[in-house]
Amino acid sequence: MLDRRRYLSRYIPVAVVLLLAVVLTVSCYRCQSTPKPEPVLPAKIPIVRVLIARSVESIDVGTTGPYEIHADGSVVARSMASLGEGKLSRRNGRWSLHAADYASDELTVVAVGQSCVRVGSGLYREKVVFSAGNGGKILAVNHLDMESYLTGVLARELYRSWHARTYQAQAIAARTYAFYEMGTFGRTHRYDLRSDQSSQVYGGFSAETDKARRAVEATRGIVLAIGPEGNEKVFRAYYSSCCGGMTNSAYVLSGPPVTTGPLAGGQKCDDCKASSRYRWPAVTVPKKIIFRALSKRYRQVADLGELKTIEVVAEAGQDESFPRAVWINVVGTDGRKVRIRADDLRIALLRDGQTQGLYSMNCRIRDTGEAIVFDRGRGFGHGVGLCQWGAQGKALRGCSVQEILQLYYPGAKLFRAY
Ligand SMILES: [Zn+2]
Repeated sequence: MLDRRRYLSRYIPVAVVLLLAVVLTVSCYRCQSTPKPEPVLPAKIPIVRVLIARSVESIDVGTTGPYEIHADGSVVARSMASLGEGKLSRRNGRWSLHAADYASDELTVVAVGQSCVRVGSGLYREKVVFSAGNGGKILAVNHLDMESYLTGVLARELYRSWHARTYQAQAIAARTYAFYEMGTFGRTHRYDLRSDQSSQVYGGFSAETDKARRAVEATRGIVLAIGPEGNEKVFRAYYSSCCGGMTNSAYVLSGPPVTTGPLAGGQKCDDCKASSRYRWPAVTVPKKIIFRALSKRYRQVADLGELKTIEVVAEAGQDESFPRAVWINVVGTDGRKVRIRADDLRIALLRDGQTQGLYSMNCRIRDTGEAIVFDRGRGFGHGVGLCQWGAQGKALRGCSVQEILQLYYPGAKLFRAY
């Protein structure tokens, strides 16, 4: 992590970097252009830190070619041959790999040249840093350049058959999201992003495809920014699979109601109709199952003893036909209530292996006595920002990358960060 702060202060507030702020213009509806290639900039690409494994007792580690091993920054092993797969474990403050033993807080496996680091069943570029997490268990974090990282994201976030412009729009949104996380969450953590749906799905080198690589190259360094010229800032460019007909406000995910800016939602989107989750049938979940899932996540819910019902206490939606639960009360049989975000109910069920087709909280919530029914469901995911199925529909209709992004993030402009 060389000069990480200096690096971030230079790039994240995207403010000072004067390069070009390409103001988006919604022009010809069927324009086929891609982001204009801008002069090649000599600036370095930032390093992203992605959590690829956590809370494991031991993990299989190796390399596909030449490597180095660093213990707290000092080289302790180096070879032009590959590192055979072995179990990395940590006991009493020491790392053990093959016959070697290292007394250090961190152990880093660096892939040299074209080599990759193997961790579990995945292959990763550049290097993987292992450190002790909670309870001394292992935390594995892949450090690699932003552009390679995005290649491993796109290949997991989108279907292989999807349009090149869908890939490019997604690359710009994902780059913006990653920048934002580096400058916020990453400042106080050992990693910037997780590798699952809680941030962006990342499959490492093993997941990369040529299509993903081309889209990342075509949009190199371009992010979405808001703010006046000279003081541009990135924002958390959320995106999801299918909005179900209208994008949501970021309010459904966090913080106070969002009524302005690129994440205010309310954009009509019929281009995601091709998704099988554009509309989905009623889902009935027994109250016992809901109570069990929520109890695992919230001690206060567990204290209720039993679930009486779910009450919607706040909704979002610019259009009456699209109200969506934002806050709900989990009501116990004695009348006590615990207020949680509606989306956290879906996530709790998901983590408890109980999704049962509940693809979003864009639905009506009904109590039938024994169960809660989620009716008239629309979309898949939180529906904030870019709708992936919608972006694909728009790309097929001939929309440009700029047009797609302008639609899902109104008011944001394209900005080359490096
Ligand atoms: Zn949509």
